[in-house]
Amino acid sequence: MTAPLPPLSRIGILGDGQLGRMLALAAARLGMAVHVFGPDAHGPAHAVAAASTVAGYDDEQALRAFAADIDVATYEFENVPVSAAAQLGRHVRLAPGERALAISQDRLAEKTFIRELGIEVAAFHDIPDADALAGLMAGGFGAGILKTRRLGYDGKGQVRLHGDETVQELRDAHASLAGAPAILEAMVPFVREVSVVAVRGADGAFSAFDPAENVHRDGILATSTVPAAIGAETATAARDIARRIVDSLDYVGVIGVEMFVVEDAGETRLLVNEIAPRVHNSGHWTMDACITCQFEQHVRAILGWPLGDPARHSDVVMRNLIGQDADAWASLSREPATCIHLYGKRETRAGRKMGHVNVLSKRT
Ligand code: AMP
Repeated sequence: MTAPLPPLSRIGILGDGQLGRMLALAAARLGMAVHVFGPDAHGPAHAVAAASTVAGYDDEQALRAFAADIDVATYEFENVPVSAAAQLGRHVRLAPGERALAISQDRLAEKTFIRELGIEVAAFHDIPDADALAGLMAGGFGAGILKTRRLGYDGKGQVRLHGDETVQELRDAHASLAGAPAILEAMVPFVREVSVVAVRGADGAFSAFDPAENVHRDGILATSTVPAAIGAETATAARDIARRIVDSLDYVGVIGVEMFVVEDAGETRLLVNEIAPRVHNSGHWTMDACITCQFEQHVRAILGWPLGDPARHSDVVMRNLIGQDADAWASLSREPATCIHLYGKRETRAGRKMGHVNVLSKRT
């Protein structure tokens, strides 16, 4: 392991969204300087960074100059091209590594990787074309979700199927993905969704926050509640799943692991839905309810520092402020025990994450 990077070290963040913004703020608290690289001049992270480069991820010259200016590189969303991360990784320490990024960009690779670790996932099949879909459905696959392999997030690039569609309806469903390679996943009859936000240090140390219980609306995370309504054994199993994933990737940094909780004949099972090799929306509650938040944990890990204490001192509900929800900032700012976080986005759009609130209560 390399020596811990000292204060005033320069952290490069690929991506200029709200996750980069909150990472930059946490890094600044530890005395670091952040350089943000991303394509959107108004991206929320640029406004709080010590240095910023507004350039496309395919701009090799800009990436070279960026690499020369930083001591360690990380990324804040999983759709940065692997080639950009790889180029940085040749010049500077990159954490997490490229492999986690590549796996998480492709649902087929992701599900295959997780299943090979002996962790349960929904039944899934590669869908290279409409015939493959029609064949599986004719074989009695049942209810499922057709998902693009790449570039799907917040419920985008997905079609739900009931299992009783005609061949023409299946062809139309496939056509709606515009020819993108896809997978078909069985519909999971979950009782709740949880996630584990975990971190692995440069020395292999592992730490996880308490599992959060997540509610999605229109495919977008609406709330995360902690503690989740799961037993201690399930919580331990959820943490253990995250640990197996990060250990097998020799991962450094924070990861989000989303899971379905299924109750079956009195038995509770966990199925992994997806992994995000970065700080995660379902970990935003840690900013106000824990001794160390997910953003500081990520910064500590990539700097080679010891991990912080993830202990939770309060119960909490994180609520995303989506689209016009954020217009209520004035009344939200008067609510007791409510910590408000706004991302400084100029344009409010339906479905756009504008901020979040953490509503704290006494730990139960
Ligand atoms: P994803 O884009 O894969 O994160 O899916 C977004 C949301 O859709 C999930 O958080 C679930 O609420 C729901 N979902 C995704 N896949 C499945 C599945 N196989 N079975 C049931 N619900 C799912």
